[in-house]
Amino acid sequence: MANSSRPRIWKPVPILMYHNVLPRAVPSLSKHLYVTRAAFEWQMRSLRRGGYTAISFSQLYAALHDGEELPKKPVLITFDDGYKGLVENARPVLNELAVPYTVFLVSSLVGRSNEWDRDLGYPELALMDWDEIQTLEADGLAKFEAHTVTHAHLDQLNPRDCVDEIAGSRDAIEAKLGRKLDVFCYPYGHYNDAVRDVVRESGFRMAVTTTMGRVRENDGLLDLPRISIYHVPAVSLTYGLGGPNFWWRVVSNKDKRPVIA
Ligand SMILES: [Zn+2]
Repeated sequence: MANSSRPRIWKPVPILMYHNVLPRAVPSLSKHLYVTRAAFEWQMRSLRRGGYTAISFSQLYAALHDGEELPKKPVLITFDDGYKGLVENARPVLNELAVPYTVFLVSSLVGRSNEWDRDLGYPELALMDWDEIQTLEADGLAKFEAHTVTHAHLDQLNPRDCVDEIAGSRDAIEAKLGRKLDVFCYPYGHYNDAVRDVVRESGFRMAVTTTMGRVRENDGLLDLPRISIYHVPAVSLTYGLGGPNFWWRVVSNKDKRPVIA
């Protein structure tokens, strides 16, 4: 229960945004769409060594909405799109370290591929099928949530189609998993006030964006910022060293949003 008399010190909470995890670097793929397995394992172990505790969206909700305490250094791990690469390349270390994580599914493309990226010339990458999704949920750490029916640009749709994409993905995933969904993820981070209203009316309590930043105490539950974690070589002229670059992303105050007093 909330205890408003207890003073709380809110430190911004990083929600990490991953896409795919692959065995090795793929130069033909946008670096924004994956990390290597070795980098991912290092990042998860490094967070643990750094004293971070991965939490669930329910815990984040309880903190933001009800004033519940969070662990000293909380972090959330999210994966967009539901790539099959997670099964072999992310699941082992997540299970070993007992890290809860959230995967956002494109409901009509489960068991297919990232067809929405075809026009951009990216290689097609397999998405998890329902058997794999149910296996990962049965591990007790993965939660699958919604990312529209077709990976739509929601801000460009008429209201009817917007409802179909948002409520439609919720209905399809809830029917398969037999539980209520809680969190929505805007494809491309594209949304506006009308889209946010549809997300709320469709029954989601929280939604994540691609806005760069860590979650502040007064952030809207349907406007949660994230920190994109993408492929950075172990040594790079642009990024320096991959490890320090990761930590700089997690802990820095790089946040383009205005400070609201
Ligand atoms: Zn996506």
